Amino acid sequence: MIRFDVGAMSDAGQVRGLNEDCAFVSERAVAVADGMGGHEGGEVASLVAIQTLLDAINDPEVETLTDAVAAANTAVWERSIKDNMRGMGTTLCAVALVNRGQEPLSPADDDDNDDAMVLSAVNVGDSRIYRLSNGELEQISRDHSLVEDLLRDGQITAEEAEAHPQRNVITKVLGIGTVLEVDWWELPAKPGERYLLCSDGLHGEVSDAKIAATLRRLADPQEAAYELVSQANLAGGRDNVTVVVADLVEGPRPKAPRYEGRVVQPDMPDLAGFYAMPAGSTPSEMGPVSNDDVRSMLPPSVESEEPHKPRLITLRTVAFMVALLGVFVFAAAAVVWYAGNGYFIDTDPDGEVVIYQGRPGGLLWFDPKLAEITGLSIDELTPILRDQIEATPSFGTLKEANVYVTNLEDQLLRSRDRRDRSGLQR
Ligand code: MN
Repeated sequence: MIRFDVGAMSDAGQVRGLNEDCAFVSERAVAVADGMGGHEGGEVASLVAIQTLLDAINDPEVETLTDAVAAANTAVWERSIKDNMRGMGTTLCAVALVNRGQEPLSPADDDDNDDAMVLSAVNVGDSRIYRLSNGELEQISRDHSLVEDLLRDGQITAEEAEAHPQRNVITKVLGIGTVLEVDWWELPAKPGERYLLCSDGLHGEVSDAKIAATLRRLADPQEAAYELVSQANLAGGRDNVTVVVADLVEGPRPKAPRYEGRVVQPDMPDLAGFYAMPAGSTPSEMGPVSNDDVRSMLPPSVESEEPHKPRLITLRTVAFMVALLGVFVFAAAAVVWYAGNGYFIDTDPDGEVVIYQGRPGGLLWFDPKLAEITGLSIDELTPILRDQIEATPSFGTLKEANVYVTNLEDQLLRSRDRRDRSGLQR
């Protein structure tokens, strides 16, 4: 009987406190989910997806792996509504041994009909499915990510993609809507081939070449899984990292190993009722089908938490905002100070000469305030003095304005003296 011999490990990594990844492993099916969404949303989303996928695989009513993924999508979506955690979602990739035909095998046929078995692979998001065949590593799934889109459109090179600042932006997520198009592949089930399922915590930290070398070097799948997780952690471990290494083997089941971290290890799911092909469709051999209807339901970009220096960026942004605010406050204070801090002399509506505080004509919404009444009337001034007042002389302080008024009174008295004296002489 053909089956998977599996090694698995899921680890929070070196930076994150929480592990929002989740995996399940069995002899017939393996899956990896990378959850996202604040406030433990990611943790819930990935676990709900994995558990629902597992339940659906065991449900005789569910006939294909893509239908099982659809069930997982609905379950995460409904959970997000129920628990008021809208926006939580998860990636999900899975590989399962299923029947080739449209009809399930009878359980009696199962043991002797490995030829009837094929692999069904599904993917949503940027977790990956790789296959190691004859020492060559091949990426089976295509990331639903901005960088993958740019790469496919020829806008960036593969080298640029590896270091792209937005390489964590994914374009398709499970659990944030009721409709989801799933990429799926049908692959031959060849003993001796090795499958790797991993979250971006591995392929974002460790190059494909190094992953391939490790998978070639370590024959034991559990050793290989441990080694890949530690390589990701040594490279920085900036994200949760989950690795499932599934070898296709023939023969009886050995004692199953115990897995570490968030790895769900169910009893062997019964896939006898599963078909390979979703009705009326063809596998995604040519890479993912872009679906604008589905994509338009998504937020413009769904970003998994950026692992690179998030605190520095936040602090820099805050510092900039504070500086900007400071400039505005200073400018506003300067205007207020300027508007209210001068004095000038003018006449009031009754023709009295008065000292105002403020700026002639006002400034913005600051009207001048009456500061002092001089007791002089514009009518009693000489034409020369009247002209001076009509020019609304301005002063920095009230004292300077008062000195000016005193001088004004002196000049007025002297001109009266002269007039009186000339009157006497006349
Ligand atoms: Mn991740």
